[in-house]
Amino acid sequence: MNNFCKLDYQKNVRFFVFHILFTIGIGFCSKAVLAIGNCPSIGQSPSCSVLITINPNGSLKFETDPNIGPYDGAEDTLVGVQNLSGATVFGISLTGNDIFGFDYDGATSNGNYEGPGTSFSIIDANTGTINFDNGLNDKGFIWFSLEGAPSQVKLTSSVTIDPGHGFNCPSIGQKIGAVGNVDYSPGNLSGLYLHEDDLTVSISYALRNLLAASQYKVSMTKSDVNSCLTPLERGTKANNAKSNIFVSVHVDKAIPIKLGILGGSKVLYSSNKASSKTLADLMVSQIASNLGVNNRGTETRDDVGVLKVTATRMTAVLAEVARLSNPDSDILHATGSSTKAASGIKSGIDAFLSQ
Ligand SMILES: [Zn+2]
Repeated sequence: MNNFCKLDYQKNVRFFVFHILFTIGIGFCSKAVLAIGNCPSIGQSPSCSVLITINPNGSLKFETDPNIGPYDGAEDTLVGVQNLSGATVFGISLTGNDIFGFDYDGATSNGNYEGPGTSFSIIDANTGTINFDNGLNDKGFIWFSLEGAPSQVKLTSSVTIDPGHGFNCPSIGQKIGAVGNVDYSPGNLSGLYLHEDDLTVSISYALRNLLAASQYKVSMTKSDVNSCLTPLERGTKANNAKSNIFVSVHVDKAIPIKLGILGGSKVLYSSNKASSKTLADLMVSQIASNLGVNNRGTETRDDVGVLKVTATRMTAVLAEVARLSNPDSDILHATGSSTKAASGIKSGIDAFLSQ
């Protein structure tokens, strides 16, 4: 062996040893449990096989640990959910081949598939909803078991609509809605002006119908133009309905034209619930384009009662669909405006849930 070959040989040995160690390292890593989630060790599964993360923007991330097999050694799967959205989530909808085709070997001691604090609404063997009975709070974790790994997952389509204000609001110390500054019956002595209290109910009913037609689970905090609730009562209704999304419907106050302030839609959110900003961003442009008004963007408003975590636990926004002065007033006064505003709100919700 000449010196050249000797050097080459040493290099090859070093490379070979490095290669072996590298391969062992990779092998070790790939065999190691990724330890996704905090599922309990059940049967042959030391932890979650599938982890669903609800991201700060409200989108869902789906991870599978290939080294955690079914806990029954066949197909039963432990699924964990961690919530990083800032808001409480009340349920997720899952799709997967025969994942709800239960055969009485669920992960809990009595053979149930539900984990602590979860219940199932099963549509068919491939489709169903996991309800988080008390809500899965921000930073919370919850687990359950299925007859296989899900292939698709999304937040449950559940919305509470809150028609803002009400003509009786002053009787409970709440603000009555704003009044428009365009008279639509100039011959009439008292005139005919748009009232926010009327419009919020009209837009909310239109939104309810659109959402219901698209298989959303919908509830409303109130159903007539007179009644009024406190922010806490509105929030409690949404929490009790276990909705994943809360939308308070408002129309912004009129501004004298001489001030030169343009109309437009604006959506408010609380900075305490990260996912609410995403919903607001997605919604405001849709309302503006559907209604044909300016887009005034979104705004952080931690002072708005219904948006506070102490009132609404879920992702929540307050939509000022347009202004009660022109150029918006004539648009709001036109036939079909409530449906246009509502379809904008719905498009924002649709976009949020399909991120
Ligand atoms: Zn208002």
